[in-house]
Amino acid sequence: MTDAHRLHDAQRGLGDMSPADFREAGARVVEQVAGYLERLEALPILPPIEPGDVRRQLSAAPPSAPEALDAILGDYARIIEPNITHWQHPGFMAYFPSVATGPGILGEWLAAGLNSNVMLWRNAPASTEVEEVTVSWLRQLFGLPDIFDGMFTDTASISSLLSLVAARHVVPGLDARDEGLAGRPEVGRLRMYCSTETHSSLEKAAIVSGVGRAGVRRVAVDEVFRMRPDALAAAIAEDRAAGFLPFCVVATIGTTSSTSIDPTAEIAAICRRERLWLHVDAAYGGAAAVAPEMRHLFQGWEHADSIVVNPHKWLFTPFDASLLLFRSPEVFRDAFSLVPEYLRVRQQGEAHDYHEYGIQLGRRFRALKMWMLIRYFGAEGLAARVREHCRMAQELGGWVDAHPTFQRMAPIPFATVCLRHVPVALAGREDEPEVRQEIDALNEAILDHVNRSGQIFLSHTRLGGRYTIRVNIGNPRQTMDHVRHCWALLQEAASSEVA
Ligand SMILES: *Cc1c(COP(=O)(O)O)cnc(C)c1O
Repeated sequence: MTDAHRLHDAQRGLGDMSPADFREAGARVVEQVAGYLERLEALPILPPIEPGDVRRQLSAAPPSAPEALDAILGDYARIIEPNITHWQHPGFMAYFPSVATGPGILGEWLAAGLNSNVMLWRNAPASTEVEEVTVSWLRQLFGLPDIFDGMFTDTASISSLLSLVAARHVVPGLDARDEGLAGRPEVGRLRMYCSTETHSSLEKAAIVSGVGRAGVRRVAVDEVFRMRPDALAAAIAEDRAAGFLPFCVVATIGTTSSTSIDPTAEIAAICRRERLWLHVDAAYGGAAAVAPEMRHLFQGWEHADSIVVNPHKWLFTPFDASLLLFRSPEVFRDAFSLVPEYLRVRQQGEAHDYHEYGIQLGRRFRALKMWMLIRYFGAEGLAARVREHCRMAQELGGWVDAHPTFQRMAPIPFATVCLRHVPVALAGREDEPEVRQEIDALNEAILDHVNRSGQIFLSHTRLGGRYTIRVNIGNPRQTMDHVRHCWALLQEAASSEVA
């Protein structure tokens, strides 16, 4: 340790970093992040490393003596920053987008400085009310009626879990909140319905909420991966006849594989008739509702009992931020509220005590970053970006359709293109299992080829059992140049992998 660093440590005493040091270090961190965002595109999206490479460069034991911030930030820049997968990179077209824009990052920083813990109004008044206002703003941006209230959670997985527990809570005579579910043969077994394309988080929610995986009935989809309402109605009837207790249906607007859209209005009608809770998973697709001309895709979601949309996916918000909207806040409060003595306060006026509506007591001040970025971009700016992403996806889809050996594997309602390459020699023979395997392996190799470039990162899925490459557009840093480059790499990969 140098003398300068020793001096630094002596000044630290038993307190926090001094305001002067914080100011200086803060300026360096701003510079580091701004530089990262500028340099980003020159970095390989997938770092060329193996598991353990980073760990080996980090001290295995915690430091016993204080270290200089110089050394810490230096290691950050040298070991950590280059060795992440760069989600912010405009060539990152895998999975779904998760992009942090400038105003959102600044909001995260301000929230970290405040460290407001948004449990209840008394210990987080401004943060609570900014959350109330931002939830309402998003609801309005999505064109949903003002009957919907809501709150922020960390992820869609948790938003859906809370919704499932709320749905369970209103099942007559069940009272699982107080009585639990085990050892009660008199109440029958719960059943929830979702399609074969529904995200795994719903099944996880069933695991946690005591519904169990056996309580999840996967309903068949049509040729473009939408839940079949006739199959749903038949499944419910069959289950009722067999003594099950149907309680919830999940409709997805923008499934994770193909971004298909379940016929939500028809599903809502079935839910009304059968008195079942309707949960709408629009974790990805929901963002598109900010563009009024896209709202027809969401028909029926206004009948939902609960809706999840992830601003951290396609609304340019730094991870994490999931919006949970609910029709009846009272149900969520009845399902979750337990107020220990030390948090009981006599309160005048109206405000949410958010901890009563979910599992967590302590909650991050997530609303600030969204409040800032909605103001920074404006409703029109958000809609224009989403619209442009959809337009770019359509353009790519057109190139795929016009190409002799690439096939589009699904419609493109949002900004995700599903495709695969089928060489002329194998076209029309996909019913033969060996041919199908060969095509799958070829597309896997194409994906690998593209991803090794470091410039574009794509992911895959299976649609109708077929290996499918997915291209997702949804980063405000993306332009047609990136889409063209992706398409060129795919074609180049296809011709070199065939040879
Ligand atoms: C991404 C996604 C989820 C899970 O989101 P998390 O926020 O990571 O839990 C759930 N449903 C759909 C449709 C998704 O696309």
